Amino acid sequence: MEALHAVFGHPVAHSLSPRIHAAFGRQAGIALRYEAIDVEPAGFAAALAAFAARGGSGANVTLPLKEAAFALCTEASERARRAGAVNTLVRGEDGAWRGDNTDGSGLVRDLTQRHGLDLRERRTLLLGAGGAARGVAPALLDAGIGELTIANRTSARADALADALGDPARVHVRYLDDLAAQGEFDLVVNATSATRGGELPALPMALVGPRSVAVDLSYGDAAIPFLAWARAAGCRQSVDGLGMLVEQAAESFRIWHGVRPETDAIHAELSNRAPALVTAD
Ligand code: NAP
Repeated sequence: MEALHAVFGHPVAHSLSPRIHAAFGRQAGIALRYEAIDVEPAGFAAALAAFAARGGSGANVTLPLKEAAFALCTEASERARRAGAVNTLVRGEDGAWRGDNTDGSGLVRDLTQRHGLDLRERRTLLLGAGGAARGVAPALLDAGIGELTIANRTSARADALADALGDPARVHVRYLDDLAAQGEFDLVVNATSATRGGELPALPMALVGPRSVAVDLSYGDAAIPFLAWARAAGCRQSVDGLGMLVEQAAESFRIWHGVRPETDAIHAELSNRAPALVTAD
């Protein structure tokens, strides 16, 4: 019987997840149907129940539903609890939803294995404190980065993330306006959705230098402004979020089906669609 999966989000029509999971299913010889379901936060619980009633056994959750998904779960993995956000749901035999968060491990795997980066002791700046930032921050700390500075438009959210991380010796919060005084970072991660509906905050060039790596969790057109800034500021390498997307999907697939698919083929296929957007020079 065909397994039924979906990604829930708003908007979600342009999600690449259905295509990625279809490719994984073909590769693993697993018959599956993977839908994209557009729902606003207020309708999420009802939409998820309707999905379960049709036999849905697992789902991904994207913007802006990750915190709502966490709240709906009866059980959550340690990494989902640390993030306070869920991007992967699994329906148990009792019908209850269990939550996990594969965003952080997806990012770390992409950076270390696909791009060959050594994250250890890297002085890191994280821009943003929303669902994606909450997902990736614990994984970056676990991967051995050095100091982590968090800057967010709403500074109270950055404070809340720093508190949740519980590592005051390594984690600091700074105002976006004060970044120019913070010196050079080895790794700058853009986890804001600024370019989706507005402007990227003005970032000082002094944040990076010829050894720095810039990573945008966005991909496609949304990644262009930050990656262009990184190149203009002289970063050694810039990476968009396509690899993270593929790796977090592979980890979700492993959770649902017990096999971790190979990701290079689908990553190359999606990169070739927009070759200018993934750079590692
Ligand atoms: P979110 O929970 O809505 O958080 C959005 C973040 O962006 C918040 O920190 C918000 O600041 C900040 N922001 C929004 N507009 C801004 C502006 N004009 N200026 C400065 N900051 C602004 O969204 P999310 O789930 O964290 O997603 C963030 C990005 O990561 C999205 O582009 C998403 O596509 C991407 N993402 C990629 C992957 C992947 O697999 N590659 C996975 C997850 C997310 P405030 O707190 O002040 O509102």
